[in-house]
Amino acid sequence: MDRKKCNRDGVVCCPLCNLSARETRDHLLFQCPFSQRCWSLIGQPGSPSGSFSTRFRQAREVLDSSFSTEVFLSACWNIWKQRNAFIFRNCPASVPGWLNGFKIDLTNQSARMPDATKEAMQIY
Ligand SMILES: [Zn+2]
Repeated sequence: MDRKKCNRDGVVCCPLCNLSARETRDHLLFQCPFSQRCWSLIGQPGSPSGSFSTRFRQAREVLDSSFSTEVFLSACWNIWKQRNAFIFRNCPASVPGWLNGFKIDLTNQSARMPDATKEAMQIY
């Protein structure tokens, strides 16, 4: 995820925290303090040190619901959108903004779900 013209001393840092952490997929989506605050709101399982595939598998096992994939991917997608809003529009990353986008995405995805699943998705 190295970006051109965004290096600080030759290291591409995460735009969502001040840890000077290299912006990797796993840092951005799971290890970053910003991302961890987002995940804590929806109660996703797993260790922050887990990789994308490990976290995805854990989420599916623990959530054991017909929409665990949608929850997981919507959470990741909205972290990515917060990152992009900061980089391209200079909008500070916002946990409430992330949560709002996450809920909108789940609502939109629920349109293709059976009624029972739509109701279950309301917990978010
Ligand atoms: Zn970070």
